[in-house]
This record gives sequence, structure tokens and C-alpha cells, in this order.
Amino acid sequence: MIIEIKNLVKRYGDFLAVDNMNLKVREGEIFGLLGPNGAGKTTTINTIAGLTKVDSGDIKIFEKDMKHHELEIKRNMGIVPQDIAVFGELTAYENVMFFGKLYGLRDGNLKDKVQEALNFTGLWDRRKDFPKNYSGGMKRRLNIACAIVHQPKIIIMDEPTVGIDPQSRNHILQSVKELNKLGSTIIYTSHYMEEIEELCTNITIMDHGKIIASGTKEELKALISSEDKMSLEVSSVNYTLIDNIKNLQGVRECSNEGNVITVISNKNSKNLSKVIDIINEADSEIMSINIEKPTLEGVFLTLTGRTLRD
Ligand code: ATP
Repeated sequence: MIIEIKNLVKRYGDFLAVDNMNLKVREGEIFGLLGPNGAGKTTTINTIAGLTKVDSGDIKIFEKDMKHHELEIKRNMGIVPQDIAVFGELTAYENVMFFGKLYGLRDGNLKDKVQEALNFTGLWDRRKDFPKNYSGGMKRRLNIACAIVHQPKIIIMDEPTVGIDPQSRNHILQSVKELNKLGSTIIYTSHYMEEIEELCTNITIMDHGKIIASGTKEELKALISSEDKMSLEVSSVNYTLIDNIKNLQGVRECSNEGNVITVISNKNSKNLSKVIDIINEADSEIMSINIEKPTLEGVFLTLTGRTLRD
């Protein structure tokens, strides 16, 4: 394990922000931490990054205890904080230089790595500009360039796509995949389940400072996928049609709202073709069919009774 956290507790005064958390990250993963605002994601990763002191618990990174090897561990980590953390009075190039030096790079190697980081984030052509002349997305990319200039083994990204344009967002998501391919282990926090779903190999869902579920996408979805759900828009509906569908083997529920019929069946009942037959026999026409797949949002909803963004 590249990261191993045991019984982590963090309080702000009386408020318990991280409640006895255990967490493991394997080398080479894109590890997703998903949860609504205030769940405790930032607090968790800030403790991993050594930016927030813990109240109790053990953090091991690279199989070394954080308490005794903090400096060494930090040298091999890159952190992209939630808030943009670059210097307004320095150009993009100077900003990345600054962070490169901070991480111990020197001379020709420093220059090469700065160029690589700026190329990687698509900012080389704008390297002489000051961040104030950058769009929100470009500032975020500069934030990333500063965090990766020393080619860290672990990169921690805290909601790096909040409030930016779709083009920069795509650029960042692609960069995350690329950095992972180049060998970095990534910790990625977000309250956007689509991003976590697209990027992450392993996912932990947090709420109120606790882990409520963790596993691969498939494992998490399996938690709620004991049923198949489909909806069909048809030209006309009548009671007999609904009753006939209800009588099919494996169907748990069938109802309609106007001309849209929803059918919930036991997993793998495979009765779509039978439902279609019933509709055809009733002389109704099918306008559209929608097979609903389980989502991480659905997992969160089932486990907490709330949506991720309420
Ligand atoms: P967000 O996406 O909004 O950043 P999060 O999941 O990252 O949410 P945290 O920022 O870790 O959550 O915050 C967890 C809880 O701890 C929140 O209720 C927050 O208000 C509280 N909190 C965070 N930092 C502090 C602090 N320095 N002092 C007091 N309370 C804090």
C-alpha cells in the first residue's frame, strides 16, 4: 500500500470532521474520494498531505510513518489545493520555477522540469503572463503545473474542476489520466460523481466524516443493483397492459405516469422482449425505451437517503 491510514480522527473544536477513518490506497491507482460539501474530504487529504495535524491515528505513506518521515514523504507528493495557490506577482514560468526549487530541483534539471510541466498543462505559450490575465481554468492548470513539476509519486487533487469552463475541465481530466499512466498514484476528491466514475479505479464515499462505502465502481454499484429498471414511452396505456406486465415472472413493480411505463424487475429477469410483446399486443406503439443503469449517485442516495448535491 502506498498510503495506509488507521483510526484517523480530526476535530475542529467540538466538531468531529473525520471520525475514526481507515483507508488504504494502492500504488498506481486513481483513488477517488467522493462526498457532498462538508463531508470531510479536504480535511482527510490535508492530513495525508501533512497540511493538517491529526488528533489521533496513524498515517503511513510509502510504508513510512508520517510522524517521523514527514519531510521525505512530502518531497514525493504534489498537492493541488482546492483554492488557487499561485503568486500573483510572479509570471506562470516564475511560479512553476518557485515550486520546483521548493521541491529541491536545481539548474538545468529545474529548467527542463518547469518546461515539461508547462507543456503538459498547455501553458508553455502563455508562460510569460501573470496569473491575473489567465482564465479560471488556466489558473487551475497553473496550480497543477506547480504541483507536478517535481514529478511526484503521489499527486493529490482537491476538487480541481470546480467552477471552470468545460474545455479546461476536459484538459484536467485528461491530464489526470496521463499523469497516472506516467506512473503517479492519484488521489482525487470531488462531489461530481461523473468525474469520479470516469477517472477512478477505486472509490471511497464519505459523509459526515465517515466512510460509508468503498470499492471499485462495479462493487459499489452491485450494492444497489439487485434490480433492473426500465422505462418505456408508448402511444397509449390501459389497465390490462399494465396488469399483464405485472404478471410477468420477476416483475416487482409496474406503473405508469401518463404514457411512460416504468418496470422494476428482479436482477437479470431479462423480460424486455416480453414487455415489448405485451405492448404490441395491446396495439400500442413504443416511442422510446430507457434502461436505467445504477450510478454512484444512486449508491449515495440508497446509503444516505440524500443526493450528493442537496
Ligand atoms: P468541501 O467540498 O465543501 O470542501 P469537504 O468534504 O472537503 O467539503 P471539509 O472541508 O473537510 O469537507 O470540511 C468538513 C467539515 O469540517 C465541514 O463541516 C467544515 O465546515 C468543517 N471545517 C473544515 N475546516 C475547518 C476549520 N478550519 N475550522 C472549523 N471547521 C472546519
